[in-house]
Amino acid sequence: MSQEVSFLEQVDRMFEKAAGYTNHSAGLLRQIQMCNSTYAMEFPLQRDDGTIETIRAWRAEHSQHKLPTKGGIRYASNVNEDEVKALATLMTYKCAIVDVPFGGAKGGIKISTRAYSDTELQRLTRRYAYELTRKNFIGPGIDVPAPDYGTGGREMAWILDTYNSLTREPLDALACVTGKPVGQGGIRGRTEATGRGCYFGIREACSYADDMEKLGLTPGLQGKTFIVQGLGNVGYHAAMYMEEGGAILVGVGEYEGAIYKADGFKLADVIDHRAKTGSILGFPGAESFESSKVVLEQDCDILVPAALEGQITTENAPRVKAKIIGEGANGPTTADADAYLAERGVMIIPDVYLNAGGVTVSYFEWLRNLSHVRFGRMNRRFESTTVTNILEAVENLSGKRISEDDRERLAQGATEVDLVNSGLEETMIHAYAETRAIAHDRGTDLRTAAFINAIDKIAKSYTEMGIWP
Ligand code: GLU
Repeated sequence: MSQEVSFLEQVDRMFEKAAGYTNHSAGLLRQIQMCNSTYAMEFPLQRDDGTIETIRAWRAEHSQHKLPTKGGIRYASNVNEDEVKALATLMTYKCAIVDVPFGGAKGGIKISTRAYSDTELQRLTRRYAYELTRKNFIGPGIDVPAPDYGTGGREMAWILDTYNSLTREPLDALACVTGKPVGQGGIRGRTEATGRGCYFGIREACSYADDMEKLGLTPGLQGKTFIVQGLGNVGYHAAMYMEEGGAILVGVGEYEGAIYKADGFKLADVIDHRAKTGSILGFPGAESFESSKVVLEQDCDILVPAALEGQITTENAPRVKAKIIGEGANGPTTADADAYLAERGVMIIPDVYLNAGGVTVSYFEWLRNLSHVRFGRMNRRFESTTVTNILEAVENLSGKRISEDDRERLAQGATEVDLVNSGLEETMIHAYAETRAIAHDRGTDLRTAAFINAIDKIAKSYTEMGIWP
């Protein structure tokens, strides 16, 4: 049943559930909920063999209550207008939850990247960027794309170059897109950011002893088993940091199928096996499944769906055994499945919070581009010298020597990636505490709490602008 409800309707249902806990007027709630502008386009692509194909693409800007609007660009064969609008809508709430001062947007091109050569992908990306520029759907203060499913730094560099060739305002042009390669104005730590943010969020959720007790678990990530669906940028990095944090990887789902081993395996070994054999299937000692989705039903403490939307539905939710679901992907749980699992006492750490690490570090990249200086450049040496002076004073007072190793560790000064990671960690910790407090006060699940938080913040923004009394 829930599969027939469109993705946008799913998001709207979650919004409406949360809106019921607020006391904003119906008009204001409708303004917050609706997608403000969508540009649907069709353009020609000349294939390498000379034939012409028509490409369908979209960019949706959900809310301009803060500018620029922000959100990734997705390349996938099932991209459609409803999905792009749903994802743009989630971006608005996501940014509000982690206090990133942007409205939400999302773009999509309906193609299977596997079916196109690199030169074809470059041509269609540049044409898409051209369309966005001509229609005023891109710009440092207008709308700032980033990577999403099927895109990465390479596509962002093509977009930047196309925008640069068309703009009359080159000074801040670097900030027209984020997730760029570091040499093209990107920021260190952006690639790992979404997965790293997922890890911080799951770690936070597991750190509250009383919440864990309700699930029959002990606090902390150490020793908890987890399954990840999708080894793309988000799933791979989330799994890597969770493993580093002491959790045990027991299952992996990818497009070719899934593997499961109750006593766990190492992520690096799975990657190695896939590189050698071309598939995760047949991993030594693990059970292999032809279907990727079967992995969602295996035994574990934490399930991390990090592939696409609509994976956990009312059909398979009754067979989900995980006690915690950490939504790395956007919209992996349908609204009905969400209600069913919440009823069963499963803790769902919602996408709008959990995968916000990407846009958080995109915000840092945008700030870096607008300030035209690398974070840490002005103060790293100063910090290092200050700490060295303090250590010397302590040595003089105490008459004891601090070891070279300790001196080096304490007096190194923060690099750009240190600052990015600490900004990300702080953001995820703060937003989790805020969301959890609302959930406790109102007696809601975490998703509803996150939506209430977003709605209240956006409503405040409209009210302060004098748009609503
Ligand atoms: N595509 C990512 C997301 O869904 C990142 C968006 C961004 O950095 O603007 O959150």
